[in-house]
Amino acid sequence: MTNIYKRALKTWGKEPQMLQVIEEMSELIKEILKNINRKKDNLAEIIEETADVEIMLNQLKSCYDIEKQVEDYKAQKLLKIEKRLDDWEKLKGK
Ligand SMILES: [Mg+2]
Repeated sequence: MTNIYKRALKTWGKEPQMLQVIEEMSELIKEILKNINRKKDNLAEIIEETADVEIMLNQLKSCYDIEKQVEDYKAQKLLKIEKRLDDWEKLKGK
């Protein structure tokens, strides 16, 4: 899998691939807005654009060689979020 990202970078270049990250994120944003603001039944599009964004985020991580750092930061961040949820639920429970 990693190989595909390295190949894509080598074939199409860093800048075009990073612009593609932005393009895919904007497509997902549009679908989320249609779903919420216009109550559009677009789950299929949301699935497709979510997959596109995940692929391009993997491309971005491969481009900057930051897979491990992102994974570590995510783990820390999720622990913080979990703690905030625990605190919130405790507060609401009282
Ligand atoms: Mg797309």
